[in-house]
Amino acid sequence: MIYFDNAATTMVRKEVAELINDRITNVYGNPSSVYKIGRESKSAIEDSREKVAKVFGAEPREIFFTSSGTESDNWAIKGFAYANKKKGNHIITSKIEHHAVLHTCEYLEKNGFEVTYLDVDADGKISLDELRNAIKDNTILVSIMYANNEIGTVQPIKEIGAITREKGVVFHTDAVQAAGHIEIDVNDQNIDMLSISGHKFNAPKGIGALYVKRGIKLENLIHGGGQERGKRPSTENIIYIEALALALELAEKEREEETAKLIKLRDYYMEKMESSIDHIKLNGHKTDRLPGNTNYSFSFIEGESLLLLLDMKGFAASSGSACTSGSLDPSHVLMAIGLPHEIAHGSLRVTFGKYNTKEEIDELFKVLPDIINRLREMSPLYEDYKKGGK
Ligand SMILES: *Cc1c(COP(=O)(O)O)cnc(C)c1O
Repeated sequence: MIYFDNAATTMVRKEVAELINDRITNVYGNPSSVYKIGRESKSAIEDSREKVAKVFGAEPREIFFTSSGTESDNWAIKGFAYANKKKGNHIITSKIEHHAVLHTCEYLEKNGFEVTYLDVDADGKISLDELRNAIKDNTILVSIMYANNEIGTVQPIKEIGAITREKGVVFHTDAVQAAGHIEIDVNDQNIDMLSISGHKFNAPKGIGALYVKRGIKLENLIHGGGQERGKRPSTENIIYIEALALALELAEKEREEETAKLIKLRDYYMEKMESSIDHIKLNGHKTDRLPGNTNYSFSFIEGESLLLLLDMKGFAASSGSACTSGSLDPSHVLMAIGLPHEIAHGSLRVTFGKYNTKEEIDELFKVLPDIINRLREMSPLYEDYKKGGK
């Protein structure tokens, strides 16, 4: 199998797997206990917190461990909204956020909050002017994702942070796709809260973190004991916390080299695509995009059948429709950048990671043009198009 779906999740890297194997049998003390093995667990967590903080230029006490990117997004947005509702009830986000943000905002709308969903342009970028104009007296929070998981577009985070700072509103960013892949400095970029998730940078699934700038108040999502300073209680997932910290530390160390490698792969893939298949469109910004992300739409193609045929040939990739969730709606992101329905359906997201090679791309292009042709031959729209002679 050739794995081209690194935006969905990544493989746990060797160093991290080794750490987990070692710890799972050797580390079991409850970090809240006073005896030696408890204290050892406690210090493993605090060392991890320091490592994570360092990567983002934050202080250790500003880092909280959670169960996922989804939990971090939920906590940042709902926790902030409920803790600050006396100051205002207006939140600004964008139309292309991950569902962890969008559905959280929709939930808040049913509970007394007002939400503005900013449009994006054809490349998937928000407009800074629109953001500035959307901020009102009752605005308390702006939540804009760092980089989009479908089309890879990276937002002007520092400029957004400058606007929210100037206007005195808090800025949260879902950096789940960016962390470990793009340089992030919460102070330089004026980021007040930032969500990350381990499994997008070669740590396991089910572990995340939230950076919360000192002084920002969040309501708890869950209530219990005193862990994470009482703000995110439950006995800590020590081993996965260590795994996340190690994966992030290594990703940061290798980031420049890794970025260069991914951009090379991406460019190679894009050249192959553009020279071997016609009636295609690149989705997302041409240069301001995640190093490992590609997303193409093909006219006269059903994305789902494309994925199934690729799967039969041993390739794992992703498409632009939300079929997995049982609906045939095209992706809200592709709709937001203005793709017509029929084209949004025929999209292919190929995302590269640490373990991909140029040879794997060559393997893909041995079968992809043929698959596209076969699917087009079955399409009545393609038939019409050819008859039209255009
Ligand atoms: C994957 C992802 C999430 C969700 O993270 P989980 O850890 O899987 O809950 C949130 N936002 C973005 C942008 C993502 O890519």
